[in-house]
Amino acid sequence: PCSFAAGPAMLPREVLAQIREDLPDWHGSGFSLLEQSFTGTAFKQLMADTEQDLRALLAIPHNYRVLFMQGGASAQFGLLPLNLLEPGQSADYLESGLWAHKAIGEARRHAPVNVVASGAAGGFTALPPVAGWRCNPYAGYCHITSNETGNGLQMPGFPELPVPLVADTTSDFLTRPIAVERFGLIYASAQKNLGVAGLCLVIVREDLLRPPRRGLPSAFSYQVQAMQQSRFNTPPTFALYVAGLMLRWIIRQGGLTLMAARAREKSRRLYECLDSHDFYRCPQVAADRSTINVCFQLENPGLLDDFFHQAARNGLHDLQGHSAVGGVRASLYNAVEMAAVERLVHFMNDFAHHHG
Ligand code: PLP
Repeated sequence: PCSFAAGPAMLPREVLAQIREDLPDWHGSGFSLLEQSFTGTAFKQLMADTEQDLRALLAIPHNYRVLFMQGGASAQFGLLPLNLLEPGQSADYLESGLWAHKAIGEARRHAPVNVVASGAAGGFTALPPVAGWRCNPYAGYCHITSNETGNGLQMPGFPELPVPLVADTTSDFLTRPIAVERFGLIYASAQKNLGVAGLCLVIVREDLLRPPRRGLPSAFSYQVQAMQQSRFNTPPTFALYVAGLMLRWIIRQGGLTLMAARAREKSRRLYECLDSHDFYRCPQVAADRSTINVCFQLENPGLLDDFFHQAARNGLHDLQGHSAVGGVRASLYNAVEMAAVERLVHFMNDFAHHHG
């Protein structure tokens, strides 16, 4: 069977096998992996190795800090303005889809927000072109969402701006190379391409760290966590351990260039199938279509339940679209194999043939 869930996502079978092996007795310690002290030498080493592998994979420059945080990307929506802005300072946001919309709503609770452009009027089927963004040169930062998980849109590139660029990369993190030095801060929840829920990664340029302002809990201060190697409080130890396994798996597979080539090939097969049938409708403009979350509708929505039911009988699971969008969504994270995509395409051709 294959899970096309938007997250938590499938894990590679090798990673699952390693977890099973390590669970009862971690590194001959006599204790389960779940019982390791986060201040013990072995676990500190695990954190250091995990950071090192991430730095190597993404070529993270020395003047950036890697933070292992909790609360998911959703917590970061509120933590960004609290950590990065002076009181009263505003931030720019691109409203590219449902996740950017949520990030804006949370940020507005803490700071003035200027929406530089929005794709809402077009139903989030295209990304607003950079030339039309109305940026504020005095903004504390400009926030973008590299991949809109619910709308199936992905930024093919990133703009040069006079203010630090901040990116929610939750759903395409480690699925393609990204030039970290172009950003002030990058963040991503782990449960899609970096393992399991509970861990959120923050990669932040050092000069943006500042003492926690009033009202910001120390555990959520980037500066406090940076000064204490993400051990101000107990980090999510299991999720960190799985992140370490995922990073090594990606490195063994051939790194981010290979992950990107696979994502392009998997998504190309699906879009090609969608565009060849009137039975399916994929409204996103071709240039902005996501290589990770392929979202589409059936021309006859009355057939959706049957589509999901029959897909599951064929071992193709969790294809429901985002609740606010409906329709179908196939998430093609790193652990989803090309063979599963071929099976999905075969099923979709068959289904269209029988019901079209
Ligand atoms: N941002 C994007 C792009 C997402 O896809 C998600 C979750 O799917 C989130 C943020 C929220 O992540 P979390 O549920 O870990 O808070």
